[in-house]
Amino acid sequence: MKKYLLEILLGAGAAGLVLGLLAGLDLTPLLIGAAFAALIKLVVDGRAPLGRRFEAMGGVGGSAGSLPQITFADVGGQEAAKRELMEALAFLKSDSLSKKLGIRPLKGILLVGPPGTGKTLMAKAAANYTDSAFISASGSQFVEMYAGVGAQRIRRLFKQAEALAQQQKKGSCVVFVDEIDVLGAKRGSHQGHMEYDQTLNEFLVQLDGIDSEREIKTLVVAATNRADILDPALLRPGRFDRIVRVDLPDKAGRLRILEIHAQGRPLAPEVDLEKAAQETYGFSGAHLENVLNEAAINALRRSSEVITPADIREAIEKVMLGEKLDRTPTSAERRRIAYHEAGHAVIAEQNRPGAVSSITITSRGNALGYIRQSPTADQYLQTQDELVAAIQVCVAGAVSEELFLGQRSTGAVGDIRQATEIAKQMVYAGLSPLGIVGAELPTNLLHDAVTDIIRRQEQIVRGCLEEHGRKVQAVAEHLLQHDSISGDQFRGFLAQLAS
Ligand code: ATP
Repeated sequence: MKKYLLEILLGAGAAGLVLGLLAGLDLTPLLIGAAFAALIKLVVDGRAPLGRRFEAMGGVGGSAGSLPQITFADVGGQEAAKRELMEALAFLKSDSLSKKLGIRPLKGILLVGPPGTGKTLMAKAAANYTDSAFISASGSQFVEMYAGVGAQRIRRLFKQAEALAQQQKKGSCVVFVDEIDVLGAKRGSHQGHMEYDQTLNEFLVQLDGIDSEREIKTLVVAATNRADILDPALLRPGRFDRIVRVDLPDKAGRLRILEIHAQGRPLAPEVDLEKAAQETYGFSGAHLENVLNEAAINALRRSSEVITPADIREAIEKVMLGEKLDRTPTSAERRRIAYHEAGHAVIAEQNRPGAVSSITITSRGNALGYIRQSPTADQYLQTQDELVAAIQVCVAGAVSEELFLGQRSTGAVGDIRQATEIAKQMVYAGLSPLGIVGAELPTNLLHDAVTDIIRRQEQIVRGCLEEHGRKVQAVAEHLLQHDSISGDQFRGFLAQLAS
């Protein structure tokens, strides 16, 4: 009977309207009122154009559907994070043993790390690993200006997760909430915070309501790169019990990710993914996927059926520095850019043989020209010598302009900023003649220490470039003719000049 209540009411309403019309009543106010009520209901349900719409697969919030076949093997690197996550999932896999051991079932896992490192992939892999249904939503989908709407959407998400698991005949479901910081920031920190706080309260209620005795078990996996702003109530034991760090991949991780995304892309035999992994320090998984995609686009532009090392080199530079620009410097400017970059490159190679990956005088992003250096290994610490060497490379461009073209230019502004930052780092690490200093070092002392460090390195670089003037000139002239030169070509070139 309850099932047909809505139909009966609608039928009775329609009959009433027809009778009213026949009796000559003015029904306009009634119709306007009904339309208004329906609009409010739609907004509250999050389905109307005014309300923020969920990706409505399944209709009731969150994006759900057939589970993408992502497994932990598709997540490159992140070995520690994967291990920790799998351990945490053991309670869903071996429920009876967990019960026997008296393990409190896990309700939430928080994945913390920079964007594009594979947090969403890991959540999907977790659902596959535990044979669970998977539903995902983003924190921003719960943010509304209307009181109570966010809380209602939270309830709907959890309900839909259970319904989906039932529909897919699974014993458990994984609810993935990306950008949890949007709804889970410390309570009271938002302007007009009542609605935010209500939404978070409802989220906590739903987490607390997850019951291991229920027919369908629920696990919430949330992701953020701002764990520091989360409300402590979210992080207390019994809620997000496990915090798993998903960091930028190291070299081995980058290689694995490149290998994963190279599958199905035709690489020329001479492509060296290990070299690409070495040259992409600081790239996330998403950047690395983008490198291979851009490399394939480069191959397509050349109408080539295979991706060559040059396509990959070009793609790394595009992802690192931005798209090539159509800026056309005057010939005098090009000459200046070439001598500037040749100066950087000769000093970089002098300090660490094999350091230069490529030199270019084509504009890209904010740079008129650039040299790309590759680290020999991922580094987590830098010594005094390494910092000094980095300052030398920074100032070498300006010194080269001065030596070979008579004066410096504004092209060195970025280099000077970088050299200043490194020198400051040295001062605060106790690596300057001032020795160990406090954080409240007077500005004039800091300024003097920084300029002193940079001036000294400028002198050393001047001496070195005077000594290797022939190399700088030859490289600059080559750049003027060919626009760019790879690291290996550059070293071959230097070897020829030396012989
Ligand atoms: P965000 O914090 O911005 O939501 P995320 O950490 O959730 O990012 P994902 O959405 O999982 O990142 O990754 C985006 C894409 O980048 C993936 O679809 C995949 O192509 C690639 N990717 C990222 N990390 C990895 C990885 N560890 N292994 C393989 N591919 C990866």
